[in-house]
Amino acid sequence: MAKAEEKRKNCLACNKSLKRIKWYYRNNGHFCNKNCFKEFLKKQAAKT
Ligand SMILES: [Zn+2]
Repeated sequence: MAKAEEKRKNCLACNKSLKRIKWYYRNNGHFCNKNCFKEFLKKQAAKT
């Protein structure tokens, strides 16, 4: 049932579309790499 969802992923930090193999999966989110993941955490931390 999640087929459509898996078709395209965007980095939650920089919002680029990601290619399957390259993404970095953490905390139910997809990122370009560790850096973007960190950026995302920063943003989240700033929000709360
Ligand atoms: Zn990114």
